[in-house]
Amino acid sequence: MESCEECLRLENRLRAASEHYVNLIVQRDQMLRNANPKASTVESVMRQARFRRNAAGRIFLDHRINHEALSRPKTKRAGQL
Ligand SMILES: [Zn+2]
Repeated sequence: MESCEECLRLENRLRAASEHYVNLIVQRDQMLRNANPKASTVESVMRQARFRRNAAGRIFLDHRINHEALSRPKTKRAGQL
């Protein structure tokens, strides 16, 4: 299945959100290792980041499902746009 501009845009957004979330986990783990009291504040930011990542994943998946449904009749009737 080919990716359209929206696919790429949503995929990039999901990737950025995932990377951001993973970075926060790494940061939090480092803080916990150093017994940094700020670790708990990172946790609430982490929860928000996870929520955003999940939302981005859902939006991307929804689009892919629609995308597939939209591209199917197009390939059946090639040349008819
Ligand atoms: Zn698409």
